[in-house]
Amino acid sequence: MLKHGIVYLIGAGPGDPGLFTIRGKKLLEKSAVVIYDRLISQEILNYANKEAELIYVGKASGNHALPQEQINALLVQKAEEGKNVARLKGGDPFVFGRGGEEALYLREHGIAFEIVPGITSAIAVPAYAGIPVTHREATSSFAVITGHEKPSKAVSSIQWDKISTGIGTLVFLMGVENLEFIIANLLAAGRSQDTPVALIRRGTYPDQEIITGTLKDIVAKVKKADFQPPAIIVVGDTVSLRNDLQWRENKTLWGAKILVTRARAQASSLLERISDQGGAAIEFPSIEIVKEPDLSALRSAFSKINNYDWIIFTSVNAVDIFLEELRSNNLDIRRLLGVKICAIGPATFARLAERGLLADVVPPEYLAEGIIKELGARIKPGDSILLPRAEGARKILPEKLQERGAIVDEVILYRTVTTSHINQSLMDEIRQGLVDYITFTSSSTVTNFVKIIGTEYITNFNSRVKVACIGPITAQTARENGFTVDIMPDQYTIDALFNSIVQDFKSGGKHI
Ligand code: SAH
Repeated sequence: MLKHGIVYLIGAGPGDPGLFTIRGKKLLEKSAVVIYDRLISQEILNYANKEAELIYVGKASGNHALPQEQINALLVQKAEEGKNVARLKGGDPFVFGRGGEEALYLREHGIAFEIVPGITSAIAVPAYAGIPVTHREATSSFAVITGHEKPSKAVSSIQWDKISTGIGTLVFLMGVENLEFIIANLLAAGRSQDTPVALIRRGTYPDQEIITGTLKDIVAKVKKADFQPPAIIVVGDTVSLRNDLQWRENKTLWGAKILVTRARAQASSLLERISDQGGAAIEFPSIEIVKEPDLSALRSAFSKINNYDWIIFTSVNAVDIFLEELRSNNLDIRRLLGVKICAIGPATFARLAERGLLADVVPPEYLAEGIIKELGARIKPGDSILLPRAEGARKILPEKLQERGAIVDEVILYRTVTTSHINQSLMDEIRQGLVDYITFTSSSTVTNFVKIIGTEYITNFNSRVKVACIGPITAQTARENGFTVDIMPDQYTIDALFNSIVQDFKSGGKHI
């Protein structure tokens, strides 16, 4: 008999992918099926195994979610097929997450399960807004309450008289539509009308929205602002601590929306830096790196590698593929003994260094021109140079080296192609130019980005969005494609690009 799989009921946390547990991530990485709800961020789903089947069971806008019975049946069905299932839920699975129901159903059907608690939005969302749910001398208790109870219900399951005055901080989930009813009940049961209240939407995300008031005026404020669910409602004296404790809003890039167009595999360092500073980093991978299927030219270069005087690496990708291939041909870096290495810039230098190779030369200017200037004097006529790089890279480098009498073997390791999978709502947002900055880190990110969104939308960008390019070649390509380039750092690195954006934003760049 086929062995049944296990179902992992995993809490995915409140939104910020950094608030997902290590245990949850480990199980997600190895599950064959992922069944997930609304409010699970794409970054977390990206941890799923590439081969895994992803099934969405949440509510799409306007549509209904899959009924609970069908979700239960689906969990059992997949487990009975012998597959391990990651059942991902927002926040914690046992806090208004119907995790208990699913676990009971699994037990009844003889399916093994594990529970992985998550950080619940009930505590984390207020925390990200600078509101502690307890505070010495202010509040010694808190409760998490459903805000979903129908006002028409004859007998309330919520004991309003007890919670209203008996508990310090009250956190309502799923309550925005019922706000008026909730507030009326609290007031009727004796809670002071001056009690502070906060509503927090998209909590822990870089675009979290907060509205504060008191039991007396919050309903009117929410109406006026047309504040939309889903959100959390926090009622209690600790809400006013936000005046002193708000912290995210103090971050340098708070409020900045920045588009990152690099290939997914390379985007992470820039994305991370942006979010660390409180900015909304939007991943829009316009290119994918595709390894050249036929690498026989590289293998033949390996076979005579010691005949080369220099190897020039002009990208991190080239380093990675070169060394991967070396390894898969059963060779190691000792083969490179005696061959001098040039790296185009610090990132390429660092990647080589990670792999145990210290480049002999890094030009001060991180461009092909920089390499030519720096190597020009060192190269003797007849020197042999290996240039492993991307298809379509600029010809200037091999040409200038040849003019100096060098013999250049250009070997194509990879090409960049246009990404096909872009989420439609993100695409619409971008076409309207609804971001503050767009970053281009190579000419191919520019050309492929334009291919994806369509040239007709570029005018939307120039009026609203600041265009940041890593260096002069990328900037030139951007201009040729109709962009106005606003930002270009003095040094052509990701670090410098990032710092220039920070400087621009601080000096009022796009603050709203
Ligand atoms: N199990 C979840 C709660 C599910 S109920 C948990 O432990 O967090 C769904 C409700 O949670 C929403 O209606 C909203 O009130 C709240 N919620 C979840 N994530 C939120 C977020 N990022 N910001 C604000 N409210 C959130």
